Amino acid sequence: MSVVSHEPTAALAGVLARIERAARASGREARDVALVAVSKQQPWENVAPVLAAGQSRFGENRVQEAAERWKDRRAGVILHLIGPLQTNKADDAVALFDVIETLDRERLARALAEAIQKRGAAPGLLVQVNTGEEPQKSGVAPRDVDAFISLCRTSFGLPVEGLMCIPPADEPPGPHFALLAKIAARNGVARLSMGMSGDFETAIRFGATHVRVGSALFGARGV
Ligand SMILES: *Cc1c(COP(=O)(O)O)cnc(C)c1O
Repeated sequence: MSVVSHEPTAALAGVLARIERAARASGREARDVALVAVSKQQPWENVAPVLAAGQSRFGENRVQEAAERWKDRRAGVILHLIGPLQTNKADDAVALFDVIETLDRERLARALAEAIQKRGAAPGLLVQVNTGEEPQKSGVAPRDVDAFISLCRTSFGLPVEGLMCIPPADEPPGPHFALLAKIAARNGVARLSMGMSGDFETAIRFGATHVRVGSALFGARGV
């Protein structure tokens, strides 16, 4: 259940205002930073008012859960996959999502290339980078990213558009965001998905083009 005092529509207005302030403070435009409203594990009663208030971009971390929730509400909605993707779900993910943010290994690149070929349409693709090199976290190690992007492009013909990272929870995020921006620049990719509820303003300062915000919008997730 949602916290009784949490009001998603007011929270959306608050987060959008904070995005705008953070963008301005860095000499950027608010429209250059897209809000991905992370609706994973939220009851529909929390998500519905945010959708009704005009938010169109949502993030989900499970293919099956996202398909059930969004299949009949897909019109006008832009869906991002922000959780790990199994190769056997590549077809479903390519059919459902507008952006897949978690491309992180060769086997998945191959499966996505085949799914895209079959469908004749490609979602936006971001490579997830494990900037903190945490063993429990998905993502390509920073030293391997250049070769991986090049493999995705040349061997699989995948249109890699950007990078995504989730910094270690116990470290200041700034250096991780700076590293992601640097890797993106040298690989000629423009999109940077970085920043969550606790650090999206910092991420905007380091050039985020997408911020993924869940609990600050919808309240704490049920477990
Ligand atoms: C859950 C999740 C988020 C949202 O986290 P909050 O702290 O609730 O804003 C963002 N990105 C990813 C990859 C997630 O899994």
